[in-house]
Amino acid sequence: MKPAVALVIPVYNEEAVLPELFRRLAGVFDSQPAVAWSAILVNDGSRDRSSAMIAEQHGRDARFKLVDLSRNFGFQAALAAGLESAKAADAVVTMDADLQDPPELIPEMVAKWQAGAEVVRAVRRTREETGLRRVAFDIFHKLFGALSDYPIEPNSGTYGLLARPAIDAFNQLNERNRFFPGLRAWVGFVRAEVLYDRKERAAGEPQQTFSRLVRYALDGVFSFSYLPLRALTYAGLFVGTCGFVLGLYYVIKRLIDIETAPTGFTTLAALVLFLGGVQLIGIGVVGEYLGRVYDEVKRRPNFIVRRRIGLE
Ligand code: UDP
Ligand code: MG
Repeated sequence: MKPAVALVIPVYNEEAVLPELFRRLAGVFDSQPAVAWSAILVNDGSRDRSSAMIAEQHGRDARFKLVDLSRNFGFQAALAAGLESAKAADAVVTMDADLQDPPELIPEMVAKWQAGAEVVRAVRRTREETGLRRVAFDIFHKLFGALSDYPIEPNSGTYGLLARPAIDAFNQLNERNRFFPGLRAWVGFVRAEVLYDRKERAAGEPQQTFSRLVRYALDGVFSFSYLPLRALTYAGLFVGTCGFVLGLYYVIKRLIDIETAPTGFTTLAALVLFLGGVQLIGIGVVGEYLGRVYDEVKRRPNFIVRRRIGLE
């Protein structure tokens, strides 16, 4: 029996890159006949012809399969839908549709898997992206590394391979606030990495809006770290101690000086404003966690599948 490797690829409004994606993937598949290949393209509620194009491609080449979600659920949910649909695969490669992750790297990852690795990460040697996005990515990775209880290895995104035991572990994690690199660090298993140069997307516009990336980053921090809560406790202790000492000072001063004049308005105003700010930040941080708890207890599924083509 040939080993079965499935690629899981979230697709959102990618009609501009799909033809090239199909061509490049078929090229890799044909060059490695010892593997039973399939590509599971998860259409995440695209508003263009992506879904129809994938269905047509399945007609031409049955190795390409379609999972159609009922609406746009976001990249993480689409990834989860693909992992769950890859029932027949011995290993899954997770990648973006826009060819920023070069498919030619896949055989190298498969080789690492066949040599015993269960989680293979593609690590970026370089990144072609520039400007604000690039700076934001770098800041986030630094921040996350410092905050997280399960540090993600730097310079890796979604691109990588998961063997069957790791896929099963992933499918069991049904939390709503999903941050793939964090979860991948969390599941453990025998790990390996391959190096690559991250390209600019082959065509079209980035589909992850900047605000989505910010939300994704917050998910990453809040679902893998208690540090913001702990920092609040420390801040509270610090401000409380200062307040106590200051209070003591005023009381003693009053007893000694027999001070009566109502002075100190500036001090009071500054203290009230400062404490108000600290408290608001505190409530905000608690709220971030509370909102996520609420998301989890609702227990809604992470995605809804409208139809599958080429998969049981
Ligand atoms: N994507 C998705 N759902 C979304 C947004 C994006 O499935 O709501 C897919 C998109 O088609 C692409 C991948 O996620 O395959 C990465 O998106 P993009 O290239 O826009 O993000 P970036 O490279 O900036 O992380
Ligand atoms: Mg991209």
